[in-house]
Amino acid sequence: MRIAIVGLSIEIMLSSPIPTGIEALQEYSAEQMLQGDLWMVRGVLERLAEDEVCEAVPLYWATALPGGPMTREAYDHVKSKTLELLAAESPFDGVVVVNHGALEVDGLEVDADSDFVCAVRATIGPDVPIGVALDLHGDMTPSLLDAGTVFSVLRTAPHRDDHQTGYRAADQLITVIRDGLKPKKAAVKIPILVPGETAVTTQEPGRTLYGSLPSLDSIPGMLEANILVGFAWNDRPWTSVTAFAVAERDAALAREQAIALAERIWAEHKNFVLSMETAEISEGLQRALSAPEQPVYLSDSGDNTTAGASGELTTVLQAALDLPGDPDIVIAGITAPQTVARLLAAGIGAEVTVELGVEHLSRPRTDRKVQAVVLGGGEWLELGGFQPYRSKEAAWAKVRIGNAIVTFHSQPIGITTPQHFRAMDIDPAAHKAYVVKLGYLHPQLEDIAARHILLLSDGTTQLDMTRLEWTRIPRPMWPLDNDFEWSPNASLYGDLS
Ligand SMILES: [Zn+2]
Repeated sequence: MRIAIVGLSIEIMLSSPIPTGIEALQEYSAEQMLQGDLWMVRGVLERLAEDEVCEAVPLYWATALPGGPMTREAYDHVKSKTLELLAAESPFDGVVVVNHGALEVDGLEVDADSDFVCAVRATIGPDVPIGVALDLHGDMTPSLLDAGTVFSVLRTAPHRDDHQTGYRAADQLITVIRDGLKPKKAAVKIPILVPGETAVTTQEPGRTLYGSLPSLDSIPGMLEANILVGFAWNDRPWTSVTAFAVAERDAALAREQAIALAERIWAEHKNFVLSMETAEISEGLQRALSAPEQPVYLSDSGDNTTAGASGELTTVLQAALDLPGDPDIVIAGITAPQTVARLLAAGIGAEVTVELGVEHLSRPRTDRKVQAVVLGGGEWLELGGFQPYRSKEAAWAKVRIGNAIVTFHSQPIGITTPQHFRAMDIDPAAHKAYVVKLGYLHPQLEDIAARHILLLSDGTTQLDMTRLEWTRIPRPMWPLDNDFEWSPNASLYGDLS
């Protein structure tokens, strides 16, 4: 059983000002995929290695930090390389595609994940099954559902189950090949916009809804049922929450399970609200600095680089500098390439005048002058371990402004693990408070934070969907519209007979 592994896994924020070009791609060859302990790919490989009859054939996988629209050049590069390798190395008994689900390509008027998987389908032919692994922040379309054979989707946010998700995709694919199945699929598009921070699986209603999925998978005749929260910020016709089900043979079973799951989601839709501790910027900073707990982690949710914001806003830093008492705070991950270059040129120990906000892109510029002492930068301390959301080539600089420690970066970075801090010689727990450009805390920071406060800051990833301009999503759509009637039967697609 020869199974190819490919994929293009990128989360795109359409309104982010920094496009995702060819230079932003992180590409992995077959050998690097085998050795790289890569997101989801590692779970696929583990499942295939368990079965003596399986031959894993990793071909090529690409990813990038979340960012603005992917350029056509970058997309065509990955797509054509993937299709050429699939054609050259064929035949295969199955293909696993490890994608995200929120890929958007400049000028492409269809959902790019759908385009990619349809192109894989066209290359390998109609009879070779495809297992698709997705992030729950991705979207579904009729053509993607049609092109894929089986699907697995992350079931935790913050994400802790990429390994299991890859494993499940491969496991279902093996079942389909072994038993000669032609699975039946059904999906329901649910008209709600749910930014990720309102659908964490450690809180209701996400916890119960996602927690119920294994029991649906175990219904006789079912393969899997899954929920895609979708990527709520992108104004595209396919943006929404999706409930979907794949059955071994029985289309009616798939429809019944997709509809029942969609009804349960719809019944809870007004409970998809922020359930973690939140605060306006100044209030949250003061609360953190006077809290009994340490360390307190604050997330600058409006400028969340892991959702594709560019990370250049200094709003929270400026608010921290306005607080009395010169607080002990670390503010990390500000994108400011020109500032980094100036600081590194000045050298460690130099005192430099920095203009905060002159490199703002997504919000109005500011030019507040502050004195900064350069503490370090340039090379990362190499500590090993997988550090996502970080380009190793990107320059950075660490400064002290008053008592605050601030890091600036030449490219967007997602500070998602304690190792990111340690690689800049910053202790991730010794200071009173830490500000990172995230929404919810990612698992490894969640594990060390004594308390987390989500700052309701403005920016590309601000969390009030009613403040955005919408022209392309179908209406009605909650929370833009309220108190409308909705029936899942009218929003059903897939194998309908
Ligand atoms: Zn995600």
